[in-house]
Amino acid sequence: MIDELLHGNQRFVESEFNNNLGYYQTIAAAQSPKILWIGCSDSRVSEDVITASKPGTIFVHRNVANIVAFNDVNVASLIQYAVVYLKIPDIIICGHTKCGGIMAIEEGVSEDYIADWLLIAQGAKERTDRIAAEQGLDREQKLEVLTRENIRLQIKHLTSIGFIKRHRKKTGLPRVHGWLYSVDTGKIEVVVDGNATSQAPSA
Ligand SMILES: [Zn+2]
Repeated sequence: MIDELLHGNQRFVESEFNNNLGYYQTIAAAQSPKILWIGCSDSRVSEDVITASKPGTIFVHRNVANIVAFNDVNVASLIQYAVVYLKIPDIIICGHTKCGGIMAIEEGVSEDYIADWLLIAQGAKERTDRIAAEQGLDREQKLEVLTRENIRLQIKHLTSIGFIKRHRKKTGLPRVHGWLYSVDTGKIEVVVDGNATSQAPSA
C-alpha cells in the first residue's frame, strides 16, 4: 500500500501538478484558504475530494467524531490561527453517516482514551436519548439524530470560545456551518446554515 501511495504521488505530479503549475506556484508562495474544515478522521470523508476542491482551499482539522473540545490547545490554536492570521471567513463542522465515533458515543467503549474523548459529546447523547424516548426511535434513527445533535453541540462549543465570541461580535465572522455527509450517497446536507445564523457585527 505504501508503494501505491508513492506511485500515486508520481502520477499527481506528472498530471495535476504539472498541468496546473501556475496555480501550484501561487499557493506555494502563500496559502490563502477560505474555509476551515473540522471533520471526522474517517477515511471515507476526504474534504478535498467530496467538495471537489483543490489544495490551498481548505484548512483542515479532523479527529474522531468531528469534536471541538473547548479545553484542547490543539484545536483552539488551529482555530485561532485560521481566524486571526489566515482570516478565514467560514468554518464548516462536518459530520457523516455511519460514523464509528458516533456509534461509540451511543453504545459506549471500553478503551480509555477514546471514552474520555467522546465524553466531550455527552451532551449530544443526553439530548438524543430524550428525543428517542419521546419519539420511539429505532437504533438507526437514533444514530442519525445523534450525528446531527453532535454537529450542533460542536458548533456551540466552537462559538463559545472566547476569542471567537469577540471576533464575531466585532466583525460578524467567522460564519459557522454544520454539514452532514452521507457515505452512502456522497451528498452533503446543510444541517446548520451559517449564513442564516451568523452574528451581525455590533456598531
Ligand atoms: Zn466519523
